[in-house]
Formats: sequence, C-alpha cells, structure tokens
Amino acid sequence: MIIDCHCHAGKGDLLTAPWNTEAPLGAYLRRARAAGIDKTVVFGAFHSDYSKANAEVARIVARHRGRLIGFAFVHAKHDAGRIFAMVEHAVRRWGFRGIKIHGHDGMPTREVCDTARAFRLPLLVDVFGQAHVVDMLATQYPDVNFIIPHLGSYADDWRVQQRVVDLLVRYPKNVFTDTSGVRNFEYIVQAVRRAGPHRVLFGSDGPWLHPGAELHKLRLLHLPPHQEALILGGNILRLLRQVRVNGRPTAATQRSSSREAASAHAVEDSAAAYGHREQELLREEWL
Ligand SMILES: [Zn+2]
Repeated sequence: MIIDCHCHAGKGDLLTAPWNTEAPLGAYLRRARAAGIDKTVVFGAFHSDYSKANAEVARIVARHRGRLIGFAFVHAKHDAGRIFAMVEHAVRRWGFRGIKIHGHDGMPTREVCDTARAFRLPLLVDVFGQAHVVDMLATQYPDVNFIIPHLGSYADDWRVQQRVVDLLVRYPKNVFTDTSGVRNFEYIVQAVRRAGPHRVLFGSDGPWLHPGAELHKLRLLHLPPHQEALILGGNILRLLRQVRVNGRPTAATQRSSSREAASAHAVEDSAAAYGHREQELLREEWL
C-alpha cells in the first residue's frame, strides 16, 4: 500500500504564499490515483484559527472516506491551553490520526508533545530549518514519534538536511523524516543508507508539488522491494497503528479549561452530519 504522509487540504486565511494558503485537492487526487497512491495524510494550510482549518479538513476527509487520513494542525502559542481539547476532538470525533505543527508558527511546547504522547499520535513538525530543536524534542520525549518533513528544510538548506540525517542516526527510535520537496537527492540516499529505510517516509507536500514526481524520486533509489515498501507506506502505517483513541489528559495537558474545551468543540462540526456509524467507519476503515 502506498501512503503519501504529507499533503495539505483546504483554504488558509493568511495569504502567506501560493503553495501554503490554499490547497484544493482535485488535481492532487487525480494525480495520486494515476501514480498508484492509495491513501494520503492531509492537514490544513496556514491559518489564524486552526480549529476552523481542522474542521474544513474533517469535511474533506469525510468526502473521501477511506482515502484521506486527517492530522490536526495546532499552533503551539495561539492554541495554548486548548491543544489537548482540539486534538481530542479531532481524534475522537473526526478520526484524525496525527498532529501537524509548523515552526513558522512556533515550535512544539510540552503541551503539544504531552498531547501527542497521550494519544500516541505521530507529531509531524516542520522545523523550518531549525534542526537543533530535533535533538531536544527527541530526548525530552523519547516515546513520541517525530516526523521531520523535508529533511528539515523545505528550502533545501544542505546544512540543515545534513544535520537531520545525523539526527536520524542519533535517535534510532523516535525520529523520522519525510521526503516531500527534497531536491538534494544525495541526502535521501544518505538517510536511507545511514539511518535505515524504516526511518524515511514518502510524502509529496501536495497539492502544490506533484505526488507522482515525488513518488518517482523514491523509485529512483532502486531499493529492494521490501525496503521500498517501508518508505512508501509501511512506516507511516506502523506509526498510525500505535494511535490510542482513548488518550487521557495529564497534568501538562490539563491546562485546558472546560470553557476552552467547550469553545473548541463548538467549532462547526460538519462531520456530525455523517452520523455515528459513519464516524466509526471513518475512524477504522483505513487501518
Ligand atoms: Zn507541507
């Protein structure tokens, strides 16, 4: 099974850049199907209110049941105090299976990492070129699975990507990378050779980047089939299967007041329109 672990969906409100302010999936879904991609992890674009962005992603996931897997986008600072509630809602109500955080907004806080830990959710962190934070995250939270997209730098900063390869070697249990947008092919080769094929995940950063082109890049590694299968889907599937839907808040995540939790839950919840049984299917079908 081929799973794209990194794609955006929905519309942001910040007009940051063409590729991260709006992510329509029409062309992506056609291209992904043609390329043989079975499932895709999706999360929002940059937004001033991720509870709205996540609700839109939930509607999109519900329309493509079985093909899309939602991750909850959170802002470590703006959403402080309600992150557990937002993620709990996304996991239990919408069947989301991971957290996305972007260094442009703010690096993960303990609240974010404790929430990931509570549900055993993979935490996809765009470190935005700041590879040094990976070292701290990996040691402070050895039981949280961190996916560092773009080998640490969407801008292909070789110093960052080289360092992330070293960090993959240094933290063999809980640090992973995705290959989305990585142009420095030699660092993908190094990541696979030095850290192992079980640490590298196929991601496209669609819909702006072409999922077929990003997938072809990995075919060009000419790996043995079992190793290629790990990168193209086996690794993300292994991480997704660890998710525990009934996560409990801990002291660190309990800062969410009941009022904040209520407002997070009050977000337009279109998935409710699909009914309880549909929600169960939504949660379990892709596993
Ligand atoms: Zn992205």
